[in-house]
Amino acid sequence: MKIGILSDIHSNLEALKAVLYQAKKEHVDEYFCLGDIVGYGANPNECIDIVRELTTRIVAGNHDFGVCNLTDISYFNDVAKKAIEWTRTVIKKENMDFLKSLPLAMEYQNVFFVHSTPSSPDEWDYILSMNDAMREFSFFENPACFVGHSHQPVIFTINAYNEIGVSIDELLVFNNSKRYIINAGSVGQPRDGNPRASFLVYNVDDKSITFSRIKYDVKKAQTNILNAGLPPFLAQRLGIGR
Ligand code: ZN
Repeated sequence: MKIGILSDIHSNLEALKAVLYQAKKEHVDEYFCLGDIVGYGANPNECIDIVRELTTRIVAGNHDFGVCNLTDISYFNDVAKKAIEWTRTVIKKENMDFLKSLPLAMEYQNVFFVHSTPSSPDEWDYILSMNDAMREFSFFENPACFVGHSHQPVIFTINAYNEIGVSIDELLVFNNSKRYIINAGSVGQPRDGNPRASFLVYNVDDKSITFSRIKYDVKKAQTNILNAGLPPFLAQRLGIGR
């Protein structure tokens, strides 16, 4: 069985459609969404509708909870805050209720899923360094944990001697003597200098992970952002993947 793992869609309908087209070609059986369906982009309702059709396995991101006032957005940067406020004005009530209902973490197929960190899912910290990863490995018991939030795909490992490794290989086959924290990157707003949409496929049968980068209609996503009256920076950054 193949699970398509999508994170940080951020209301980018063009990127989401391109990723799902590719996932279909790869015969993905089911989906998991790691949160931040909304925020930054111009198509929150369309993206929520599609994700709700795809799966019930969805965890909340800080932007999802920001829109429905379940997390404080005073620490968000200016453009993020503006996008949250704009999203509140256009989101359908049923989609707002749906975002409110999302859990912060979930276990499925003996894997842990959370948007930010296993240690404190509602504090929205990042796992960026080997030190961050070292701390987080003690807060879940499964062989692997999938995260999002940083918009940068990466794989952290820990071995039996508590040694941490970091890599960004496209293909990973799980080694039984290691545990993993895997960031799926971002569908709708990549920040690793590569503007292509990021997602991964977890093959439950052979315990492998494949990362993909997908070209999509960036121009259209940018035009949608500008037409919505959102900050132009949110359009520009999609072109450079930062
Ligand atoms: Zn995000």
